[in-house]
Amino acid sequence: MPSVISTDVLIVGAGVAGLWLNARLRSQGFSTVVVENATLGGGQTVKSQGIIHGGAKYALHGALTGASEAIADMPRRWREALAGNGELDLSGVRLLSEAHYLWSPGTIAGNLTSFFASKAVRGRVDQVKGEELPPALQDRRFKGKVYRLAELVIDVPSLVERLAQLAGDGLLAGQHIEPLREGDTLVGLKVDGREIRAQRIVLSAGGGTADLLSALGLSQPAMQTRPLHMIIAKGPGLKPLYAHCLGGGTKPRITVTTHPAADGNWVWYMGGDIAEADGVARTPEEQISTAQKELAQLLPWIDMSQTRWATLRVDRAEPLQSGLTRPDNAFLAEQGRLLVGWPTKLALAPDFADRVLSALERDGIRPTVTDALPDLPKPALGQPAWEHLLP
Ligand code: FAD
Repeated sequence: MPSVISTDVLIVGAGVAGLWLNARLRSQGFSTVVVENATLGGGQTVKSQGIIHGGAKYALHGALTGASEAIADMPRRWREALAGNGELDLSGVRLLSEAHYLWSPGTIAGNLTSFFASKAVRGRVDQVKGEELPPALQDRRFKGKVYRLAELVIDVPSLVERLAQLAGDGLLAGQHIEPLREGDTLVGLKVDGREIRAQRIVLSAGGGTADLLSALGLSQPAMQTRPLHMIIAKGPGLKPLYAHCLGGGTKPRITVTTHPAADGNWVWYMGGDIAEADGVARTPEEQISTAQKELAQLLPWIDMSQTRWATLRVDRAEPLQSGLTRPDNAFLAEQGRLLVGWPTKLALAPDFADRVLSALERDGIRPTVTDALPDLPKPALGQPAWEHLLP
């Protein structure tokens, strides 16, 4: 029989939410265990585009409200952590771009005017021209307008690797999770038959949270998933581009981020409107040909002749919402010792950790467990999709 473990906080799910929270808790002296049933960050986290939104994109359609304050502060908090002087020491995590760009192909000035008139973005956005343009847009045929947003883009695999280092001996590869109760009270979890007792249990299991809740006999908080059909292109002709291309609608027509592949090539990873409803309905072949047509129209000077293509279907997991508004804050619900939530964005992982930490503080939960952990089986690091789709 594996030994019984006691810990202050037991976290299930090692995506950015669980790993960031874990590192914050450990830096405050809490003992923690993080259980992961697949790979570290391999759920939504390493499939994300790595943009540390500050909310500017949402101002475009007037959705940046008072409730968006958390997101507005995220770029500063990440910047400090990346510089090694923030709430976590993330020095060494690779920064892919200091800025994300808004790029209008030329015909939607009205949309941009109202966007830049909005108080929310004033002072955070500058128009760029000539040599300040992203390399992929530096061509004499480029006619659009480009604005620089003070939003970072990070290399997510290196973030996950650093957060895994900060997790020390607390990571546990575990498959089968059952409740551990005393009477009616949940006092921990049984992971592959091993009892883990904790003062608090946090479920941050992304799309796996609904199944975990039902294993605990619970149905709340309700979750929703939003399917996406992302496009991946890899080839020697691609130059770095981190930009939302604006269409006439409320969502970016296409959002391109650029990532380093292990073989030294750049990968363009594309989402935005093209990856949503209509894109989800397309077959991979249709989705690739739609993306090829978009790029040939928007960026005809980019040499795509040696580019290889793939698509990736992935669901975003979020709390169930009424209507179509998207959350600009992390979400956390509580039931006794159990805390359950979704950051809703990679960028909002610090906000998710804040919410858990304030619930602990409110309940007077302090670090108490000092026992060393036994040697636990460790989950592997998640790899970006292009490494196996386009090796
Ligand atoms: P996940 O990363 O999904 O982690 C949950 C973990 O729990 C997984 O590792 C999973 O294996 C594990 N798990 C599940 N069930 C169990 C179980 N029963 N037992 C143990 N472990 C379990 N956000 C941004 O801020 N910027 C972006 O640019 C951005 N781009 C995105 C692009 C795409 C295509 C997608 C899909 C999302 C994007 N996001 C972005 C959103 C962001 O990726 C997510 O909000 C964030 O990664 C969620 O983190 P998480 O830790 O909650 O979930």
